[in-house]
Amino acid sequence: MPSARSIGRVAAGMDVDDLRALVHRHYERRRRNKSLHPVIGEIRPLIFDGHESTSSYLRCCRGCSQRRVTVAEGERVQYYHRYVMAMLLHGDGCLLLDIEPQGPGEGESTAAIRLLKRLVARYPRAFNAVIGDSLYLNPEFCRLAVEHGKYFLAVLKDERRDLLVDARGLFECESSVRLESDKKLYQCWDIEGFTTWEQFEYPVRVVRSIETSTVRRWLADEEQEMISEWIWATNIPQTAVGTEAIIRIGHARWRIENNGFNELVNEWNADHVYKHEPNAMLVFLLLLLLAYNVFHAFISLNVKPQLRARHTTRHFAKLVAAEFYIPSGDHFT
Ligand SMILES: [Zn+2]
Repeated sequence: MPSARSIGRVAAGMDVDDLRALVHRHYERRRRNKSLHPVIGEIRPLIFDGHESTSSYLRCCRGCSQRRVTVAEGERVQYYHRYVMAMLLHGDGCLLLDIEPQGPGEGESTAAIRLLKRLVARYPRAFNAVIGDSLYLNPEFCRLAVEHGKYFLAVLKDERRDLLVDARGLFECESSVRLESDKKLYQCWDIEGFTTWEQFEYPVRVVRSIETSTVRRWLADEEQEMISEWIWATNIPQTAVGTEAIIRIGHARWRIENNGFNELVNEWNADHVYKHEPNAMLVFLLLLLLAYNVFHAFISLNVKPQLRARHTTRHFAKLVAAEFYIPSGDHFT
């Protein structure tokens, strides 16, 4: 086995484009195998989100961002790394397509735009919609999507925005539709043709959903009503996708938190810094994307459903890990 230091040194000198090409090869194989199905109707969503992987007061490198943090001893400079990841949703799961580091002094949207530019060139037909939180309702990001024939859908949150003020005005006078799904009540508004987003030249559709669910509080032995409000802006026309599907696509964004970052961090140690050098850190993350995609493809396409039903995913991960410790030639059967 090479030493940890050698692995770090090799990672620092590796070409990230070669690794991205490997992730693409895995995608191409899945596409040709026809194992990637659309999620909702004909929508193939690509979800974007940012993640902070590490922060430190002591160690920094040329890729570190900086911020001033007030601690008990006064103000200190903290160094950190952030990334934007793109996750392709498909009928049975998700594929992690790519990751882009946020450079020093750079915002999440700048890194996301760079990532989207690379993905429309490398994966022109893999997705037809880009999804994100309120940060992704950025005119440059949405325009880039539209110019490449993609839909966008993002959370509309900032109460100061003319678009939201305008939409709230119309929600007051337009009638709503009631839907029910998974023990949740949805009161929805769906209005097209808004042109009040000044920096954006295309008309926008706004969908609002007030969601009521009942939660049982066992300690107090009572039922409590939970109400949440969601508003999304999109260019997906009503003729292509109905209100209920827009709400499902909007909430599917959580999958990048639950299936993406949470699993990568808690099960795959994604935030561990094996070598604090920007190229090495990106190389480890891209290797992780590849391992994640191959592992999940193995579980969902190779392991027989009866066997899959009997064990947890973690059990299969342990069997794979155990193979590293047994002499070559001997394998679990
Ligand atoms: Zn650093």
